[in-house]
Formats: sequence, structure tokens, C-alpha cells
Amino acid sequence: MEWPQVVVAAAVTMGVLMFDLAMLFQRGSTVHSSPFVFKLSIPRIIAMSHGHTRARSEGQRAHAGGAGPAGVGLEEKDENRCITCPWGRFPIMIQRTPVYSSLKKILGGPITLLAGEILGAITHVATPDPVAALTFDDGPNPKFTPCLLDILEKHKARATFFMLGENAQRYPQLVQRVARAGHAIGNHSWNHPEFPSITGRERRAQIRRCAKAIAPHGQRLFRPPYGYQNIASCIDLLWLGYQVIYWNTVANDWCTDDAEWMAARLVNQVQPGSIVLLHDNICSASKHPYFDRGPLLKAVDMFLERLQGSFHFITIPELLRTGRPHQSLILQDH
Ligand SMILES: [Zn+2]
Repeated sequence: MEWPQVVVAAAVTMGVLMFDLAMLFQRGSTVHSSPFVFKLSIPRIIAMSHGHTRARSEGQRAHAGGAGPAGVGLEEKDENRCITCPWGRFPIMIQRTPVYSSLKKILGGPITLLAGEILGAITHVATPDPVAALTFDDGPNPKFTPCLLDILEKHKARATFFMLGENAQRYPQLVQRVARAGHAIGNHSWNHPEFPSITGRERRAQIRRCAKAIAPHGQRLFRPPYGYQNIASCIDLLWLGYQVIYWNTVANDWCTDDAEWMAARLVNQVQPGSIVLLHDNICSASKHPYFDRGPLLKAVDMFLERLQGSFHFITIPELLRTGRPHQSLILQDH
């Protein structure tokens, strides 16, 4: 390989890595991190490294003999992949180059690991102790949260409540009661929007407004509404000093009213260090078919009864002190 080719290959690789990063910001988000120089140069880089001939022949192959300008068939073939691409469909061709694939293979692992360490959400804790954390989202709810507090008290279990600011502001006495009982309180946004679908400014406003509503009891723990996140929302949380808490155990309590089934599922799934996702309220209005938390409360009662003496239920901050938190970069926008 001669030096001009090396320069072109390096430029292509850098360009594509930048493109990948930009796409991570772009996907489902209104945060725009468009690298303007890259936008201008990418078609030229492709032309230099690949040659128009290859692009044309691939385009024609995909187009299956149809008429039309070069590349049209390729565009049609990769239409789904290209929907989020804001400046044309050229990068698809670049991703097929051997240099890019090899570099992505070599750098992909360490970059993902590093990103997980910096921006990752905690899914569980590696600990030998028989401890786990129950988390309850979307509350507080004046009907269900007090009953849940009684059940937790009966079993001497502590939990973490990821509250919506809107509800916390409406029921401040409930927030106080939760805190007085020794449970932890975290931030679940003001009113549960999909974070990748709103602007960075709106996201930060959601977090700050909720923090104000749960103050002074709230901790810098955040549970993303619907579990949806993109890179930009992860950076917002990091910027505001929050730890994102996911889960590794669910009872699917938003899509069933079978208390026995939920309790059995929890008993089967819970492990030392588990973080369990549950809801003491359903945010999406009382029209939701499983809005009634009665079956869930019954399931929690049965579950705690069955594990009495063999498991200890503690808050998220307490759980994080028992072992090594397991972090993963979880990007999900629908
Ligand atoms: Zn929620």
C-alpha cells in the first residue's frame, strides 16, 4: 500500500468512526452532533478509496438490472438502515471496506467496555451475600404506596422508590413517609417522557424538576422512563452526577394481574445482588388494564413471605456497598 492509500484509509476509518458516534447521538434523538467537515468530505473519500466503478457495480447488482443512476439500487436495498442517516447513504459503502471492518473488530471491544464503564447503567451487583434490591417505579400513589409500605414493614424489607416528580409534588406526605421508613428515593423524571425523543434541555429540566420535588430525600439515582436511553441521555445523566439504575429481574407486573404467577417468577429469578423492577403505580393513566396494583401488592407479600430468612432486601445504595456493581451500556429507544 502506498502512502496516499494509507492516508485515505486512515481518513476513511476516522470518518466512519466519527459517523458511528454521530449516529449514536442522532438515533431517536433531537441532539445534533453533525460533524460538518465529515459531512462534506465523505462522498469524496468514498470516491477516492473505492472508486466510482465499485459503487456503481454494487448499486446495479442490488438494483437487479433496473435502469437509473448508479447507487440507486444500493440505496433501495439499505433503505431501513439509512432512515436515520441525515446526510445521504454513502456511509453504507464505507462500512463494507475491509479496513473499517478490521478496525471496528479491534477497537470495538475496548471502546464498548470503556463506554460501559463511563456511561453504563447498573443492572445488578456481584456479591456472595443473599441480598437483593426491590425497586418501585412511577409512584408515589396515594392508594397503593401506603399498602406497600405496610407490607415492606411487616417483612422488615427496605426498597428503593423511583418517583415521578409530578406525583411526588402532589403527595409530599407520602414522600416523607417513604423516607422515614428507611427506604431510598430516586429520580424517575418529572412526568415519564421517552428520554431519547426529547431534547437535551428538556431531559435536564425533567431531572432537575423531579429532584426538586423529591428533595431533600432524593438521592442521585436515576431510572430511565421505559428504560429508554441513548448516548446523549447517558451523557446528560453523567453531567448531572446521576447513577443510572437498571434491573436484571422483572415480574412483568404491568402486563398481568396474576399474583401467584408474579410471586413464583420472582422467587425463581432472584439471585444475590439482583435489582428487581416493580411498580407501585402505573404512569400511563388509570385507563391501563393493569393499573390496579392490588395483585402486585399481593405478589410482593407472597414473595417476601417465601424468602423469609433466606434473603435480605435492602436499598440500592446499601446493595452497591455489598459488592462490585455490574455496569452495561444499554441503548434502547423504543
Ligand atoms: Zn416508569
